[in-house]
Amino acid sequence: MPNLGGPELLIVLAVLLLLFGATRLPKLARSMGQAGKEFKEGMKDGYRAEPVEGPCPFCEVKVPADSKFCPGCGKSSDEIVAQKSREAAEKKPA
Ligand SMILES: [Zn+2]
Repeated sequence: MPNLGGPELLIVLAVLLLLFGATRLPKLARSMGQAGKEFKEGMKDGYRAEPVEGPCPFCEVKVPADSKFCPGCGKSSDEIVAQKSREAAEKKPA
């Protein structure tokens, strides 16, 4: 019977940890980093891709594309974009 004492067991565990760490940790770190990067880029894209333009969904006053607030009701561009996407989502059935 092989002598598997504490130190040998620890070495085996260390080797297993190294093997698992070498194959799984970089993958995990990469996918986490990628998700974080895509999330950030998505936030940026969302901000750029939805300029406030056309009529305000609250008061129908035309909002200039680069305006931060509606000149009619004073709603912020964030609120207007959110309301517009909400209305768009309501129009088309899921
Ligand atoms: Zn308005």
